[in-house]
Amino acid sequence: MLLHLPTSVPEAQEFMAQGAVPVGGATLVWATWQRDGFPERAMSLRNLPEANAIEREALGAAVVLNRIDDRVPEVLRRAAAGVGTGAVRRTATVGGNLVGSTLRCLLPAALVLGSRAITLEPDRTHETDLAEAVAKQHLLLGIRWREPLVSTYDKLPGEAGGPPPLVVAAAVHAADERRLLRVAVRDGHQVLGANAPFDGGTGAALHALRETDLAALHPEAWEAVRRQVTGLAGRLPGA
Ligand SMILES: Cc1cc2nc3c(=O)[nH]c(=O)nc-3n(C[C@H](O)[C@H](O)[C@H](O)COP(=O)(O)OP(=O)(O)OC[C@H]3O[C@@H](n4cnc5c(N)ncnc54)[C@H](O)[C@@H]3O)c2cc1C
Repeated sequence: MLLHLPTSVPEAQEFMAQGAVPVGGATLVWATWQRDGFPERAMSLRNLPEANAIEREALGAAVVLNRIDDRVPEVLRRAAAGVGTGAVRRTATVGGNLVGSTLRCLLPAALVLGSRAITLEPDRTHETDLAEAVAKQHLLLGIRWREPLVSTYDKLPGEAGGPPPLVVAAAVHAADERRLLRVAVRDGHQVLGANAPFDGGTGAALHALRETDLAALHPEAWEAVRRQVTGLAGRLPGA
């Protein structure tokens, strides 16, 4: 297997055109490749500046999870800190987690930030809907969002060998003169998202969320949402 390490977008596009498979930390693909055979070419984005941003409003796909610190909003930082073990976090990348894993602990966090995906295409880089980029397994360069007023993340304890632990992510954004609450819940392998105005207090926001897809949540999950939303309300500027 030839491992390409492009240092510019045109170079990455060239390797992409040659059929190089994207690879992050290889924490998932290594076992598959050993079992099924290695691809002819792979491409890591770790030397590509565009894939290494760690900023208030951007995160690169090649960033290793344990490098995610307080430069990014709390919701993403806590999501990354809760992935797997220390050994996994030292190797696994944002791109591998969002596009390549089935658990995708970072996805609810990225969704409540209203993140957009920056993808690499043969002839351009393209900003697009994150859920779509993930579903279509596009080559991800990174994600971008608008910084929220406050955000939070909770991953409930799971049982070994049991279903994926419940994840609740929430953020409040300033939208013109108003405030918008975004909530995303990973329940099993499914990620549900909903928005609600956050101008009239916690009760009104929770009531509005009850009218969305989140109405289908089981009582324990709904209680976790209620807790996170209530906690966020107390941390809003002027609260
Ligand atoms: C012991 C263990 C515990 C774990 N626990 C958790 C957990 O609690 N929560 C959780 O969310 N995950 C968990 N994971 C999954 C972990 O997050 C993944 O291993 C990791 O996200 C894969 O990242 P990677 O960079 O190693 O990807 P790789 O193994 O390199 O790649 C995985 C897939 O992603 C694709 N890919 C990589 N980068 C990109 C990119 N930039 N654009 C498009 N596709 C790309 C690859 O082509 C491949 O198909 C766990 C994994 C292990 C081994």
